[in-house]
Amino acid sequence: MTEVDVLVVGGGPGGTPTAMALASAGRRVLLVEKGAGLGGTCLFEGCIPSKILHESARRLQAIKRAQEFGIKIPAGDIAVDWDVIMQRKAAVLQHRAAGALHHARSIPTLTVQFGEATLLGPRRARITPHGGKPEDISFGSAVIATGSVPRSLPIPGIDLPQVLTSEQLLDIKRLPKRLAVIGGGPIGVEMAQIFAVFGCAVTLIEYGPRILAPVDDEIAVALQGHFRAQGIGLDAGAKVSAVVSKGDGVAVQYRDAAGALHEAEADIVLEATGRHPNVIGLGLENTAVRFDQHGVKVGDALETDEPGIYAVGDVIGHPMFAHWATAQGLALARHLLGRPTRFPMPAINSAVIFSMPEVAIAGLTEGEARAAGHDVGIARYDFRGDARAQVSGHAEGILKLVYDKTSRAVLGVHILAEGAASLLGEGALAVATHVPIEAMAGAIHPHPTLSESMGLAARGVLAAAH
Ligand code: FAD
Repeated sequence: MTEVDVLVVGGGPGGTPTAMALASAGRRVLLVEKGAGLGGTCLFEGCIPSKILHESARRLQAIKRAQEFGIKIPAGDIAVDWDVIMQRKAAVLQHRAAGALHHARSIPTLTVQFGEATLLGPRRARITPHGGKPEDISFGSAVIATGSVPRSLPIPGIDLPQVLTSEQLLDIKRLPKRLAVIGGGPIGVEMAQIFAVFGCAVTLIEYGPRILAPVDDEIAVALQGHFRAQGIGLDAGAKVSAVVSKGDGVAVQYRDAAGALHEAEADIVLEATGRHPNVIGLGLENTAVRFDQHGVKVGDALETDEPGIYAVGDVIGHPMFAHWATAQGLALARHLLGRPTRFPMPAINSAVIFSMPEVAIAGLTEGEARAAGHDVGIARYDFRGDARAQVSGHAEGILKLVYDKTSRAVLGVHILAEGAASLLGEGALAVATHVPIEAMAGAIHPHPTLSESMGLAARGVLAAAH
């Protein structure tokens, strides 16, 4: 029987870096991936394909405003070529998957096997290669990094062919005229705006009182204003009860907050109602690993209830982000190599929602900081007065720095602005290293860049103190 030091199940942003880090340090690692390439949901169905669409939408938006910037484009010559967008998507995915595999294969003690892994017991697994015979192996430790799968509402009509997951929507053959989105989380929000820019009539129906539940209230409410300005129908506090066939398409039936019945007609419906851990066929019942609908249960060092079996990424639940899965995987690799390790804490996580304008967050919201017992102060900045934002024609948005008035440490950075994604690096570093607000104020931020917002917000606090 083949014996490896570490079995890693799942070749996404959680499993692949874990396997590479362990093998680079000389461990014999077997990385098993069920799909056809390394990259996981993020590369093939998530982060990257959605950002390819986002990039095309942003460029279209910019072209539509070209006249404002003194660029003449003949009227009527702008159109979306969906086939080209899909071809570009395929090329980028293929390039990135090939790069990842090339890198993995260059590490002598790392074996990549495309196929399915099932745990047979605490130290044994069955590997079934695509088109090959199953082989049983034994391992010293195992890392479960099998990700998540879309959650589906138990309502009539949800299995109609027009109701798609995000993975299916990212692969449609032609643009729909009307799109209904169920769910106002990051995926629903991004897709609603992208397809609206492409010219679809979009309605978004959200169960909670507003979109983007975990995001700072002021920022989420401001983004809703952009939805309305963009002509996206938005109904929050609404409960979807059924999807029914109607004419050439379908209608999503729902009750609004006051209980009134509505129908949103569409050609395609995106069901973006969350994701749950992917443990199907993994053989967890043959081990002491525990899990529920929120994820595989792990302790502080990401170890499950079965000693020697660990889990990282979406499979252990929220937050579900690629960089979070990677941060966990790299920390776990250090731990398994016996090196001093600080496991990532949610309080220093960062995230970007690629809305228009973008939402970028690092660390704690104002509410979370108060709940954690901090003496909270807020530094604000309004992008309406920002030089770079005015130059680029996006003079709108807000920045909020959450800090502790006693320790002075920056606890959270929350931005709504076009370009917020690229701006967040400084915020993520500040939160992770507990930078004092005075240090942020003292850093010299180049003019005219959006990064000045960080310094100006912090300086506002100091000015108020004098
Ligand atoms: P995954 O990436 O899901 O990888 C798990 C892998 O395990 C899969 O490749 C699967 O085939 C494999 N597998 C499962 N079972 C087995 C088995 N039994 N044997 C072998 N292999 C198995 N995150 C961001 O940070 N930024 C974004 O912009 C972003 N956009 C997103 C957009 C969409 C539409 C979606 C759906 C997600 C997005 N995410 C984004 C989330 C991100 O994709 C996930 O958080 C990330 O992929 C999780 O990584 P993971 O390694 O835990 O799991």
